[in-house]
Amino acid sequence: MTTPSRALLTSRLGGFGTTIFAEMSALAARTGAINLGQGFPDTDAPAEVLEAAVDAIRAGHNQYPPGPGIAALRAAIAAHQRRFYGIELDPDGEVLVTTGATEAIAAALLALCEPGDEVVTFEPYYDSYAACIALAGARRRPVTLRPPDYAIDPVALAAAFSPRTRLVLLNSPHNPTGKVFTREELELVADHCRERDVIAVTDEVYEHLVFDGREHVPLATLPGMAERTLTISSAGKTFSVTGWKIGWATGPRAVVSATQTAKQFLTFVSGAPFQHAIAHALALPDAYFDSFRAGLQAKRDRLCAGLEAAGLEVFRPAGTYFVTADIRPLGEDDGHAFCLSLPERARVVAVPTVVFYDDKEVGRPLVRFAFCKRDDVIDDAATRLASPSA
Ligand code: PMP
Ligand code: GLN
Repeated sequence: MTTPSRALLTSRLGGFGTTIFAEMSALAARTGAINLGQGFPDTDAPAEVLEAAVDAIRAGHNQYPPGPGIAALRAAIAAHQRRFYGIELDPDGEVLVTTGATEAIAAALLALCEPGDEVVTFEPYYDSYAACIALAGARRRPVTLRPPDYAIDPVALAAAFSPRTRLVLLNSPHNPTGKVFTREELELVADHCRERDVIAVTDEVYEHLVFDGREHVPLATLPGMAERTLTISSAGKTFSVTGWKIGWATGPRAVVSATQTAKQFLTFVSGAPFQHAIAHALALPDAYFDSFRAGLQAKRDRLCAGLEAAGLEVFRPAGTYFVTADIRPLGEDDGHAFCLSLPERARVVAVPTVVFYDDKEVGRPLVRFAFCKRDDVIDDAATRLASPSA
């Protein structure tokens, strides 16, 4: 085969090679190392959720579902938002089922941004944000979050806004830091949105993984924000089914409708039997959500203790699947090089946080480890990290 002489990848996607998650999972597979890189659990959803998917397949729910998602799932999403946050939604028009949160984010950015618009976001940012902002022809304006507490600097936040700001893209609980934004921080963001008539898009896929009695506050629940916030979430994390790719976007009819216009040309629809199963899952009793959160909190404690014993400086996360550590106490300062050598040195894979920062100096010594793994896997990784071969 001949290779075309002209570069194939468009300039919009220049610099977006393979995602760090795919790269690091491939490294783990190649070396046989324990994969604490990509965030996916190694245990299954509750049996009844799995059974609901099998039942849906057997019942013949195997053709295209309706564009906005099946009615039972849209009703279940609306009921979930009311039950946990007191948010009232009309399942017909204010709820859109998507192919994971990933598609909801892409569709929202493609639908809402004109070329040249600016998107205020927070770095480190989830990798698809940068790529989708670029695909939309927009520009990212990241506000830098720094350890140990990753607090929003009000001056930096104000400086990120301009007359070109189209929307704010916020992720709480936040990947990769594990930060859960406080109500006061969210108020700061909301003030700017209200004053400047800017839309907020929030990614809340870790909404049920908030630890130590903290509260997850959806931005849409702050005064004046329901009418300008598109709230995105997904079943992947909450029910340990990251491969099912059932997500959703909720909010004002006009914003949901615009997002659906883009979404219909990305995947049109997907996951018919899984939509039925997630409708069932979202109605699980509070006890499920409580024990899921308590289980992950215990895993956080387990991995944090292991990383501390291995000599890293650990920034204890308030939520999510992830903990970030600073490698400088080990006498190293390049997180990327550290992660590339870690499989050989300790037979463990982690993710260099620097890839999620534009400000490379801040991200350079930081490394993200996933704790959504069985206890024996976490213990094994901790033992390996505490006694590296070189
Ligand atoms: N946003 C964040 C912050 C994530 O960590 C992930 C990965 N689960 C996603 C979006 C993508 O979610 P999904 O797998 O539902 O597309
Ligand atoms: N959200 C997962 C993580 O942060 C990865 C998802 C993906 O591979 N795109 O690890």
